[in-house]
Amino acid sequence: MARLLLIEDDLAIRTPLIRALRERGHAVAAASTAMTGLRDALEDRPDLVVLDLGLPDLDGRELLRMLRAVSSVPVIVATARDDETEIVRVLDAGADDYVVKPFTAAQLDARARAVLRRSPGGDAPDPTLVVGGLRVDPRSRQVTLDGAPVELTPREFDLLHHLATRPGQVVTKRELLTEVWQIPYGGADKTVDVHLSWLRRKLGESAQEPRYLHTVRGVGVRLEPPQATG
Ligand code: CA
Repeated sequence: MARLLLIEDDLAIRTPLIRALRERGHAVAAASTAMTGLRDALEDRPDLVVLDLGLPDLDGRELLRMLRAVSSVPVIVATARDDETEIVRVLDAGADDYVVKPFTAAQLDARARAVLRRSPGGDAPDPTLVVGGLRVDPRSRQVTLDGAPVELTPREFDLLHHLATRPGQVVTKRELLTEVWQIPYGGADKTVDVHLSWLRRKLGESAQEPRYLHTVRGVGVRLEPPQATG
């Protein structure tokens, strides 16, 4: 069951849709204007918003932008226009999916469940990992070091992210190859060492003078905040 907020002004659509979605086990609240919908979305914190684009007081796309500025709740847009420009526009404006009118409750229900599977908890806790001055954000795949962005390749990001999930612990090269590269450990493989040395350089340190990345010879590598010295 999910808590849905339906923002739709057309009673002929809203009433049967609410009934059908409730029959499918959802808790459904409804709003008939953009402004009451925005308020309900923020106050009631539904799991998912179904947004009609043609609302009496404000264009649905405008509402979507306003909602996106303050909330990450999943949104499915209901549009009357089945053309690519329109669909691209609503997805770009932050919609998670769309349905084209007329649509059935079964279709909306299936799309709602798919969207909810992809985004468990509309306002999930911030997954950013923080190790000392290092911030690793898996959503944007961005890394900052003492507030300054660090440009990493996708593989370097995955490697750093994996290490940042277990700060202070030694992670073996075997595990890194399996988890980050998804290839079996070959013993003499230098892949991990090479990527670690690139990562070190980007973090402004070296194996001789490590700050965050500490090699444990013959075992693996440990990520930890720099030790305060002096
Ligand atoms: Ca409408």
